[in-house]
Amino acid sequence: MIIGVPKEVKLDEYRVAMLPVGVEELTRRGHKVLIEVGAGIGSGLPDTEYAAAGAELVLEATEIFARADMIVKVKEPQASEWPMIRKGQTVFTYFHFAADRELTEAMINSGAAAVAYETLADDQGRLPLLTPMSEVAGRMSVQEGAKYLERPQQGRGILLGGVPGVAPANILILGGGIVGANAAKIAAGFNANVAILDINMDRLRYLSDVMPPNVDVLFSDRHIIREQLRLADLVIGAVLIPGAKAPRLIEREQLKEMKQGSVIIDVAIDQGGCIATSRPTTHSEPTYIVDDVLHYCVTNMPGAVGRTSTFALCNVTLPWVIEIAQRGIEDAAHSLRPIARAVNMFAGEVTNRPVAETFAIPY
Ligand code: NAD
Repeated sequence: MIIGVPKEVKLDEYRVAMLPVGVEELTRRGHKVLIEVGAGIGSGLPDTEYAAAGAELVLEATEIFARADMIVKVKEPQASEWPMIRKGQTVFTYFHFAADRELTEAMINSGAAAVAYETLADDQGRLPLLTPMSEVAGRMSVQEGAKYLERPQQGRGILLGGVPGVAPANILILGGGIVGANAAKIAAGFNANVAILDINMDRLRYLSDVMPPNVDVLFSDRHIIREQLRLADLVIGAVLIPGAKAPRLIEREQLKEMKQGSVIIDVAIDQGGCIATSRPTTHSEPTYIVDDVLHYCVTNMPGAVGRTSTFALCNVTLPWVIEIAQRGIEDAAHSLRPIARAVNMFAGEVTNRPVAETFAIPY
């Protein structure tokens, strides 16, 4: 099979969909990998590394789309890429169709197989191609929080870990899933006082077993949130109800009870956010202030740490890229249930129920 990896064209996107080791694994199985010149630069991966691994470097994305049987990408195809996608081709990437009718229609019209990272689910319902990005965002949320608590960044001027004789910061984490647990682990490592809240008792029991002593694991209800909010220097929003808008856990008037210069990092912003005053921001303008509380609500946090995110993403996508390359998409979807769940469109038909229902398309 010919596998093509174009350079990402979305603004502020520094990831690339394949590492040089991926090229090597595919070429030693007899496949050909086309990499667009400069595709890895944003992640610190020069063309020479891809060439050494056996890739053919191609100057233009048009040539990659014209020659490849399968396109492997990171972000959903952009409007400039739509006309290049063709019938019989497989496109393996994040799509998030429900958020974008135009993209959905473009992919249906292309006749290509749209295989979505975000719906590749294992038999336990886990989403292994989403997990690494939650791990990145969770860990990064504490790093960003630490930065914005600094006075020159308009924060309270607090060092997360304190110093001997001076108390550390209080960090409130709403949601103890992948993002929340990763945030708690890093925050605990900074020596902060951490409270992590969830409503799932099994999850709370697990967190209580694995978290260090400076992490309080608490059941999430209105009273606990109100109590913790008054103490918090940094609040991290990390809740998720799968398939739904994030629940709103903090109302506008509650901000007045928070300390002046405290910071909210609402990671759940991509699902609407869990704080009433959250609105999406970008890496170029990441923050704004409401009622003396600094808000950071960047929707694609992993993009800022492109190199780490590229490695984290490619580690989990490569085995599936290999399966599709070895079997072809039809056989892979028939033999492997996670791949079948990932196929959102095939030959002009929508094959994913939620996508079809969102746009009232026959399924
Ligand atoms: P997850 O499903 O692993 O965890 C969510 C947790 O929230 C679950 O444990 C659930 O029980 C808990 N929860 C639900 N309602 C709650 C409530 N009322 N109070 C307390 N906890 C509650 O999800 P995740 O992978 O950790 O992702 C969390 C959010 O972060 C998602 O919205 C995800 O899309 C988002 N995310 C954003 C970025 C970004 O760049 N901004 C990156 C990755 C993930």
